[in-house]
Amino acid sequence: LNRRLAEFGTTIFAEMSALALSTGAINLGQGFPDTDGPEEVREAAVRALRDGRGNQYPPGPGVPELRTAVAAHQQRRYGLSFDPDTEVLVTAGATEAIAASLLALVEPGDEVIALEPYYDSYAACIAMAGGRRVPVTLRAQEDEARFRLDLDELRDAVTDRTRLLLINTPHNPTGTVLTREELAAIAELAVERDLLVVTDEVYEHLVFDEAEHVPLATFPGMRERTVTISSSGKTFSFTGWKVGWVTAAPELVTAVRSAKQYLTYVSAGPFQYAIAEALALPESYFTAFRDDMLLKRNLLAAGLEEAGFRVFRPSGTYFITTDIRPLGETDGFAFCRALPERAGVVAIPHAVFYDHREEGAPFVRFAFCKRTDLLREAGERLAELR
Ligand code: PMP
Ligand code: GLN
Repeated sequence: LNRRLAEFGTTIFAEMSALALSTGAINLGQGFPDTDGPEEVREAAVRALRDGRGNQYPPGPGVPELRTAVAAHQQRRYGLSFDPDTEVLVTAGATEAIAASLLALVEPGDEVIALEPYYDSYAACIAMAGGRRVPVTLRAQEDEARFRLDLDELRDAVTDRTRLLLINTPHNPTGTVLTREELAAIAELAVERDLLVVTDEVYEHLVFDEAEHVPLATFPGMRERTVTISSSGKTFSFTGWKVGWVTAAPELVTAVRSAKQYLTYVSAGPFQYAIAEALALPESYFTAFRDDMLLKRNLLAAGLEEAGFRVFRPSGTYFITTDIRPLGETDGFAFCRALPERAGVVAIPHAVFYDHREEGAPFVRFAFCKRTDLLREAGERLAELR
């Protein structure tokens, strides 16, 4: 393994899912739902397979039906207008979109600012691109029960070498949804310092309570400098299909596509046709999906509180971050490695998402995109830790 990748080893998700399998523990680690997405979308994939749509290499930018559906979704939800031919690119999940964006836009030595804790592929992709990551830490607020971005810290992190801001909202793993004011400040900074922005919005449909998802591309001066990434894995519960997409100005899409061509060339054809239909589902699908996840959030949060964790009730995503110190624990890593044996539950330690590992040490993430009986059972098992 070369020096750029040596520090990364096996992803925490593979490690913890393997631990769940070998111990039979309830897997609240890796974020994937245990119930498949809509029947009609599965049927649409079968139809595409049967009809021979997408069984051979689909077009490089993605099938026109899906690009059109992505553009229509951005228009309908956010009033953002993108040309399906020049401003939309289909990728092999958001993961490839992140990789291709960084490989296309970062020069060796460029600094990339990412919100810490960051989704693990960000660090690896910045490294593969030869960039330098500059983490800006989201900190747990005692009073607000939320992880918050310090805008002054973000401003101070920008240097002459900064090439781009890598933003994620709703944010994995903290569940923070950046507010309109925070996003406006990020946008102003990007414009003032002439930075590109790559924004990972895969949890755009998983936003709860009073929170609102506002795409960064909607702010003044941002449309032309922002690469927006999303994916069908989260919104439609088909994480195995690996259909994601990028929307951006033509020059940016062209750049990202140049890298994408040599990573996967294209992604699986029949699934693209099915996701085109999924994006056109009535609003009631999205509302019901969110309401169901909200119920699960509340159920798991109650179980975790009951078990003695300090719970950061997320405004978005399907993850709950907890502080394990009230349980008399301080090392999330050791806690998560022992948890399957101690309580029959798998969780993810935050520390792996930090450069400043000590900042993340006491935090542990639990996924709630699981059946309610499992969430209830997990709560009961964790209560035994007391
Ligand atoms: N970004 C974030 C923040 C994620 O949590 C995930 C994980 N699902 C991804 C990107 C990857 O998405 P995909 O499965 O579409 O590659
Ligand atoms: N995004 C999912 C999570 O955060 C996992 C995806 C993966 O395994 N790479 O848990």
